[in-house]
Amino acid sequence: MPYKFTFDLSRIPRFFFTEITKVAYQKGVHKKVGRTAHEIIKKFKIQEATGLNLSDAVLLLQDLIDMQARNLLEREMFTQTRKRALFLPHCSRKYMDNRCAAVFDPNIPSYICAHCSPDCLINKAISFAEKKSYDIYILPGGSCVPKILNAKQYEGAVGVACGEEIMLSGKILKSMGVAGQAVPLIKNGCANTVFNIETLFKIL
Ligand code: SF4
Ligand code: SF4
Repeated sequence: MPYKFTFDLSRIPRFFFTEITKVAYQKGVHKKVGRTAHEIIKKFKIQEATGLNLSDAVLLLQDLIDMQARNLLEREMFTQTRKRALFLPHCSRKYMDNRCAAVFDPNIPSYICAHCSPDCLINKAISFAEKKSYDIYILPGGSCVPKILNAKQYEGAVGVACGEEIMLSGKILKSMGVAGQAVPLIKNGCANTVFNIETLFKIL
């Protein structure tokens, strides 16, 4: 399910995400974050930069922190897995119309990328992940995740999506004993969305 608001963090300084990682680490140790989400919003002028109201900005920040805290918690277990999947969101394709040459296969279910655009984020992610022996899926929604996990019995999975989708998929992975790592979208909106490709490379 998407957020009820749109955001774009793609122009926020990289240091913002370092700060999120720091807070997520503290959360893993102390189990609470306190006023930090508010402090980060103020420090990086997130409301001014994104146009979000305070409660939406807090929700977004808390999800980013939770996501990163869980990444840290599961990292060791994840690194020990061998059979892994990468779930990419269809909304990060360069084109959402018929200029995208990908074909959707409902039996998997996944889009199959035809590599039509070298500068497409999805294409770049696939090229890297293939070298790391991941099975790759381009999903129209998180509801496809259980079907794929049931069919393929993966030990580990990396998911790229917006916060709410990641949280839902994280619960599914946990219930199935699959070690997960997440990469958040830094621009949502269900079309022309953006994630940080360097962050994904590091996670993979
Ligand atoms: S590179 Fe793949 S995902 Fe991107 S627009 Fe082309 S076919 Fe679609
Ligand atoms: S932004 Fe992308 S990942 Fe999030 S709900 Fe929309 S289509 Fe799904």
